[in-house]
Amino acid sequence: MTNKLKYFIGNWKMFGDFGSFKIINKVNKFSHESKNLSKKKIILCVPSTLIHFFNKKLKSKFISLGVQNCHYHQGYGPFTGSINASMLKKAGAKYIILGHSENRAEGETNNLIKKKIISALKQKLNIIYCIGETLKEKNKGKTFSILREQMKSSLEKKFNINKIIFAYEPVWSIGTNKIPKMDKLKKTIKFIKRDFKKNFKTKKTPKVLYGGSVNDKNIRLFSSISQIDGFLIGGASQSSKKFIDIIINYYK
Ligand code: PEP
Repeated sequence: MTNKLKYFIGNWKMFGDFGSFKIINKVNKFSHESKNLSKKKIILCVPSTLIHFFNKKLKSKFISLGVQNCHYHQGYGPFTGSINASMLKKAGAKYIILGHSENRAEGETNNLIKKKIISALKQKLNIIYCIGETLKEKNKGKTFSILREQMKSSLEKKFNINKIIFAYEPVWSIGTNKIPKMDKLKKTIKFIKRDFKKNFKTKKTPKVLYGGSVNDKNIRLFSSISQIDGFLIGGASQSSKKFIDIIINYYK
């Protein structure tokens, strides 16, 4: 069993209501009771409508709570339907997912993501920055160049890397039950770490998670890659049982 800190981050996407607190509660209890299992950090990124409620209702916290997006603008402004990083921070968010491919698919550019990252860093939120290639890009052999571009155009050398965790999420793997071949995945995770250090002229190795169709059955496969610092889990995090089983099975 590894003794390196591993992240298990749930991305609830557009799921949940006040009754979903029972899921939060079960995962929180599990986190408390299994604290000797290993060094792990459990985070659930929930819809913005629920973060304040969950944050207040959860008395002793053994997990952290986060959200899934924000507007780039730092103050209040004429942006109908939007929520900024400061509002999310005040509502109890500690983490924020940015650059998710489901938002990129709706037109979010690397440049817009950069503005959101700046805003979130200003609020001292911890960022889970999603990067990953589409199937078309993969088939054209462009995976590494896409990842490099996503890192270079959304980040700056002066950013506090301690507040940014990468989530490598191949778009073709999200919600499809398809996962990368382990030897390819290992190379990609190593590439992200190496390329980031080179381009951002830092000795600090960034944390890199894997995300895309992780479930309680396939999680064991990933434990062979020590370079993976944890997982971003979508669909399976909407069930406390499935999410907890992923964590238990990872350490089996
Ligand atoms: C995600 O949405 O970040 C994700 C990894 O989804 P899924 O686990 O459902 O593929």
